[in-house]
Amino acid sequence: MITLYEKLDNKNINSEVIEKAAGILQKGGLVAFPTETVYGLGANGLDSEACRKIYEAKGRPSDNPLILHIGDISQLETIVSDVPKAAEKIINAFWPGPVTIIFNKKDIVPDSVSGGLNTVAVRFPSDEIAKRLIVSSGLPIAAPSANTSGKPSPTKAEHVLHDMDGRIDMIIDGGSCGFGLESTIIDVTGDKPALLRPGAVTKEMLEAVVGDIDVDSAVYKQLSKDEKPKAPGMKYTHYSPEADVALVRGESNEKVIAKINSLVLSDKMAGFKTGVLCCGKNADKYAADIVLSAGDDIETVGARLFDILRRFDLLGAEKVYSEVFDEAGEGMAVMNRLKKAAGHKFIEA
Ligand code: AMP
Ligand code: MG
Repeated sequence: MITLYEKLDNKNINSEVIEKAAGILQKGGLVAFPTETVYGLGANGLDSEACRKIYEAKGRPSDNPLILHIGDISQLETIVSDVPKAAEKIINAFWPGPVTIIFNKKDIVPDSVSGGLNTVAVRFPSDEIAKRLIVSSGLPIAAPSANTSGKPSPTKAEHVLHDMDGRIDMIIDGGSCGFGLESTIIDVTGDKPALLRPGAVTKEMLEAVVGDIDVDSAVYKQLSKDEKPKAPGMKYTHYSPEADVALVRGESNEKVIAKINSLVLSDKMAGFKTGVLCCGKNADKYAADIVLSAGDDIETVGARLFDILRRFDLLGAEKVYSEVFDEAGEGMAVMNRLKKAAGHKFIEA
């Protein structure tokens, strides 16, 4: 299959490209498009066969359900059976934006979207290209991240091209994604709202709107074989570069730097290509072959993280050590993704 590649300017969107992409979606094809979180791999969310192609293109396990994206709030009632009070408050505060809400689903939503659950995940993105494409298709669009399953999510069109060229009908290049981490997921179908995946809309921001919320244990620790996360996707290893990744933590910045440099030295002597992921202020303190700075504020770290993980692969890193980041606010989402990238491997400085 030849993958069409079209560039779009967010501030001056070419309608012809949008219509071509919407036509592909209506005919059951796959289109990757930018959102404010990460690039999505879109298909008609009411068409089982189209959704099956998503799983095939990504190599995604079939029990990992998809998020339906809407481009207008009126689409919500066509796919969910009820909108609880808590959901209404979250919608008013954060939609359109980077938070996904789990609802009870209507029958029209196929099993290939819900993974056989009675619920469906819905998001209303704020990205202009995403909104225009969804509205123009007239459909709810199923769209997981547009990466090969298990690899870091794509935050630039070149990441999508790397993973999906020849496997999907079209890629819309709308530049870098603003947040760079997947959406926050909150389940409102139980007695108390539950955070299933942290993202740019933080626990604190949600609690300010709906009061106390539970946090699914899969958010901060590795589950044992018989524990089940509430978001099925959280059980899979994710975001992993080819390199062995470990997170190094310690009492002080100096201790962490010293520990990482001693690990790097012994790896280099053993012939490995080494990498370090660090905050901006430490970027010149490391002796690794590849040192990638994620920046100093947590929003910048979030926006750069997946690109950095992919760059370690492109540059051939074999052993990667990462500093850890404060888990407050968006740090919870950053550390959730980093822990997964490292298979929850910590080294104490
Ligand atoms: P992705 O679109 O690749 O970011 O993955 C979507 C995430 O949403 C996965 O972790 C899924 O397990 C989760 N998800 C989708 N639908 C549901 C649902 N009905 N209930 C709980 N989690 C869901
Ligand atoms: Mg994904």
